[in-house]
Amino acid sequence: MNLKTMELPVLPLRGIMLFPGMVLHFDIARPRSIAALEQAMEAGQKIFLVAQKQEEQEEPAPADLCPVGTVAAVRQIMNLPGENIRVLVEGEVRGTIQEVLSEENYLLARIELHRDRVPRSAESKALVRTAQDLFDEFARSSQRVSTEMVEGLRQQEKPGEIADLLASSILQKWQERQEMLEEMDPVKRLEKACALLMRETELADTEKEIQSRLRKQVERSQKDYYLREQIRAIQNELGEGDDADDQSGYRKRMEETPLNEEARAKCEKEIERMGRIAPGSPEYIVSETYIDWILDLPWGKETEDSLDLAKAREVLDREHYGLDKVKERIIEYLAVLRMKKNMKGPILCFVGPPGVGKTSIVRAIAEAVNRKFVRMSLGGVRDEAEIRGHRKTYIGSMPGRIITGMKQAGSMNPVFLFDEIDKMASDFRGDPASAMLEVLDAEQNFAFRDHYMEIPFDLSKVMFITTANSVETIPEPLLDRMELIEVPSYTEEEKLQILKRHLKPKQEAEHGMAAGTIRMSDAVMREMIEKYTREAGVRGLERVMAKCCRKSAVYLLENQKKRITVTSSRLHEFLGAARYTREPLEKEARVGIVNGLAWTSVGGETLEVECVLMPGKGNLKLTGQLGDVMRESAEAAFSWVRAHSAELGLEEDFYTKVDLHIHLPEGAVPKDGPSAGVTMTTALVSALTGRKVRQDVAMTGEMTLRGRVLPIGGLKEKTLAAYRAGVRTLVIPKENHKDLEEIPAYVRDHFRIVEAEEIQQVLKTALV
Ligand code: ADP
Repeated sequence: MNLKTMELPVLPLRGIMLFPGMVLHFDIARPRSIAALEQAMEAGQKIFLVAQKQEEQEEPAPADLCPVGTVAAVRQIMNLPGENIRVLVEGEVRGTIQEVLSEENYLLARIELHRDRVPRSAESKALVRTAQDLFDEFARSSQRVSTEMVEGLRQQEKPGEIADLLASSILQKWQERQEMLEEMDPVKRLEKACALLMRETELADTEKEIQSRLRKQVERSQKDYYLREQIRAIQNELGEGDDADDQSGYRKRMEETPLNEEARAKCEKEIERMGRIAPGSPEYIVSETYIDWILDLPWGKETEDSLDLAKAREVLDREHYGLDKVKERIIEYLAVLRMKKNMKGPILCFVGPPGVGKTSIVRAIAEAVNRKFVRMSLGGVRDEAEIRGHRKTYIGSMPGRIITGMKQAGSMNPVFLFDEIDKMASDFRGDPASAMLEVLDAEQNFAFRDHYMEIPFDLSKVMFITTANSVETIPEPLLDRMELIEVPSYTEEEKLQILKRHLKPKQEAEHGMAAGTIRMSDAVMREMIEKYTREAGVRGLERVMAKCCRKSAVYLLENQKKRITVTSSRLHEFLGAARYTREPLEKEARVGIVNGLAWTSVGGETLEVECVLMPGKGNLKLTGQLGDVMRESAEAAFSWVRAHSAELGLEEDFYTKVDLHIHLPEGAVPKDGPSAGVTMTTALVSALTGRKVRQDVAMTGEMTLRGRVLPIGGLKEKTLAAYRAGVRTLVIPKENHKDLEEIPAYVRDHFRIVEAEEIQQVLKTALV
């Protein structure tokens, strides 16, 4: 049959297509399709099958059909329930619609037939063989091909038919198959098919590789698991099982530990859980850590208190020189505890500058009452979680520092020191102060809950003590619960004694020397204190002493000596040039320069206030890093002077002609506070009136607008500074009279002390 065209009914296919030489069955339901089929059955059982471009189109027009289709013979028809009909067709030859003849009930068209030419070139033969080999290879890589198909392909010789066969067996999408259908040249079609084969083989290989890798992984972990289980079973049989050991070990420890009810339940549950997790897995370790934390806490362990006051006194005296008032307060506190027979008392807070022995005295208290000692610095703690811990749900979470401290203490009743409670900050991560409140509150702390532990823990037997540098930044509610004990800064004399009796022997011992190896006269020690340290406490002094010991050690070894005498010149050699020098006070009275006294973190300092006058319009200029409060007291001083111009012998409108400049030297140090009020007033008056100020007078005091002198803080420190500077007359606010007690008599007796109530008294004392 070599017909070039045929008139055939056209059946549009949705989402499928048919190659010549292949069979296909499908269901039809569209009335037009059924009509086309009926027509075909009447005339020669041939039908033209062609894919429609859009699958979802219900009634495609000729233009909506793909250009190439297949002429097929209908082999079988089966009526299905409903209107559906199932047909079995066999593809015969490619065809294209040449002309639409009718579109009435169905599409009737003249179809041009395209039979494959039979190529005879050697190239096509080679291509056929290549295709067969490639298919073999593909079949080996892919599980999708049956051996029959491979055999079937071997039988074929025609390149076009092989290509069709290949396309139908490897291409999944109908659109890709359609492309192959539209390729009329059999050799080109086979070339395309070969390329496809290669691509598919490669993909199949990769797929296979991935699969086998995955399989291996799964197998391996299954094998591991299996082996591990076996080991476990064997070990359990032998009674040396690791996890069984873990679990029963924990159980045993749990039985022996007097946990509270909630803790026991929690611990039990966790041990149970542990049994169900693979040992060594991260979860297992989390469980283990948690149980360890519970069992490591000092449940029920307590040290026995020693409330022997004589012994306490002895310990306190042994460790610390001076501090009589502080020690007395501690003894009182211990006495009350002893009377009450329990350790519930107010929380002590030692307040004072750095290095005055706050921490070490708390350590001594612990020793005196025979308790364990733990210390936690609150400086810079801004996260509640640091105190209370992180919830267990966070990876790597830990209990907070309270629980950590308790574990470290190893007893339920240690002395627990919170250092620098005034340096605690709060921010978005929660307020550590509120957590601290709970810890320090005797009503609540018998059941302290850490976020990590999730169980209540009794802190009520702990003796909490705190320290602070100043009380100003301690949150009010915390302050309410604490009893403040001030630890003042040391006088030079006290420092000398501390150095002689404590720091020097301590440092000698720490450097491997017998006590007394280093000999130093009091004068040299004084020099060490005055020229190499400037501080309220003795921490710097201890460091300087340590340096001295190191240098001495070198000297002793190099010179084969047993002892060394540190003279003044050797001191300079060891420590370098003097770090601090004190300029002696001016002898001559001067205009506009007044000695004030300031209180800084390193103790008291003398502070010169200068005032000059220049032609101008009454402006007041202030320099020297002054804070707002200090600026305000300068303004107040100026107002007072203006209000009292007549009394001071100034022209009423003096301020319209002059500008005033007040300066506080040592500009790098920020200064603030109201206590320079009287000093600035005196400087202003002196500058304006031209009256000289006596330079052996120093003063301190706040002043009101009406000229009243108000009390100030840090009198002891300021007095000591004045003493060091060689001041002879000291002006202080009357209301500070009571504080004079704290000042050693030899210092107090050194001065003429003027206790002022009104600024006039100050002026009378200071101005010549
Ligand atoms: P703070 O806690 O007040 O900053 P520390 O307790 O750390 O001070 O004291 C610093 C050092 O000074 C410690 O080595 C301490 O032993 C020593 N020290 C302080 N005051 C005295 C004192 N009165 N007697 C003996 N040593 C003291």
